[in-house]
Amino acid sequence: MALPRHAEYLIIGAGVHGLSTAYHLAKYLKAKGMGRGEDVVVIDKAGIAAGASGVACGNVRCNYYQEPMTRLMIHCMDIWESDPDYFAYNSVGYLTVSFAPMAEGLAAVHARHKLLGYPSTFIQGEKDVKKYMQGIFYDWQAEKLEVVLHEHRGGHAWSKQAIHGLAIKAESEDAQLFIGPTVTGFRFANDGSVRVVETDQGDIEVGWVVVAVGPWIKPMWRLLDLPMQVPDPRNPDQMVELWRYLALQEGEIEINPYVHITNDGRRPPLVHVDSDVPLYSEDGRLVWDKPWGIYFKRDKHSVQGGAVPLDIGPEAEIDPYGRRSPYYCVTDQFYDIWVASLAHCMKRFEGTRKYASRKPSGGIGAFSADNFPIFDFMRPNVYVIADSNHGFKMIGVGEQVARILTGERSELLEPFRFGRFEEAQAMPKSKAPFPWM
Ligand SMILES: Cc1cc2nc3c(=O)[nH]c(=O)nc-3n(C[C@H](O)[C@H](O)[C@H](O)COP(=O)(O)OP(=O)(O)OC[C@H]3O[C@@H](n4cnc5c(N)ncnc54)[C@H](O)[C@@H]3O)c2cc1C
Repeated sequence: MALPRHAEYLIIGAGVHGLSTAYHLAKYLKAKGMGRGEDVVVIDKAGIAAGASGVACGNVRCNYYQEPMTRLMIHCMDIWESDPDYFAYNSVGYLTVSFAPMAEGLAAVHARHKLLGYPSTFIQGEKDVKKYMQGIFYDWQAEKLEVVLHEHRGGHAWSKQAIHGLAIKAESEDAQLFIGPTVTGFRFANDGSVRVVETDQGDIEVGWVVVAVGPWIKPMWRLLDLPMQVPDPRNPDQMVELWRYLALQEGEIEINPYVHITNDGRRPPLVHVDSDVPLYSEDGRLVWDKPWGIYFKRDKHSVQGGAVPLDIGPEAEIDPYGRRSPYYCVTDQFYDIWVASLAHCMKRFEGTRKYASRKPSGGIGAFSADNFPIFDFMRPNVYVIADSNHGFKMIGVGEQVARILTGERSELLEPFRFGRFEEAQAMPKSKAPFPWM
């Protein structure tokens, strides 16, 4: 099928946000008598799930310190749970087990969970934490952990499969998907709206545009001629770069995944641990003596997870190795720390360093100046979904964008408007030492 020369709704990017928008928009246009499914056109330069959505660990959680994030995440959870087969969603729950500096923040998150009717259990005190964790994993052995927040919803999805599920749902609502065209520029009308989207396969006249390009947001932002600097959220008299990059460090140990199982034989919740206990390798070498944060899950053929991201700065190669995907290859040091931390937590992972995978893993994320998403009209007919790397779990954002494009308001997305930087209303930060909350 030839790339159309006109699209009433052109969505750039076939990741979680582009395809969730496409699916819901095609559905709502028909249901509201405002258009046809075919009016929604998705283009992607590389493929369905070719970007961050396809390399993500797939964590789905709701332990955010900021109320707008919590509310939005509960909405997203409803969408994940609405079709677990198509979304390849494992509703196994999410355990956050942390050291003392995280206690205050996690207690606040738990209190909000209670208020909003989101089921979670909060345990405090080192002895009780160990007992609770050993009730789930008999060989739990981590020391000096002060709190557990156990979300009974949440878990993880198989990332590539989930995005293909969204693509099938979008196509079943008659949205059109085109793989191959790269957006190279925009032509603007006098009122600042985009009239034409230029691609390497020809121009497309547009009614509305949704930009959902994940870590490629900075070059796209520049093509849209938008401000590259904003007032510093910590010091509004100073300007800072709006976008910077972090390397998301993830990897896997290629062991029988069924080693990782709960005491009652079930698929385990996703486990996240923050601590400052020094970590040692299997031969007794000190590998890390600063605070660390990690997460892990049972994958299809391995145990997979990650550690605290590394700041790369305002410039990064997002398409390394010519792959047209945002891979970032983790180092031996990542595996030394990550596997040592797994063994520190659970006896079953002792002696598994030699099974560290050699496949490319991890990826690049584009983060905003306050580390929170920007969901907003950045030109009169251009809605930008830039999730500041929070977003595989945010499957419900596209649903809200579809509502906006069909004439509704979204209270859930309103706090993420771009104007917050100028209005000095950046999101409050928790006192935790990690960027998780
Ligand atoms: C290693 C890693 C692990 C992560 N783990 C998690 C996790 O466990 N949970 C979580 O919630 N989030 C996680 N994230 C973050 C999450 O993956 C992203 O925030 C989210 O997937 C972004 O989705 P998206 O749809 O905006 O972009 P993407 O999925 O990156 O899709 C963007 C698409 O746009 C296309 N594109 C880009 N530029 C152009 C152009 N010029 N023309 C045409 N097409 C273009 C790309 O080919 C790509 O397919 C992780 C990220 C990484 C890198």
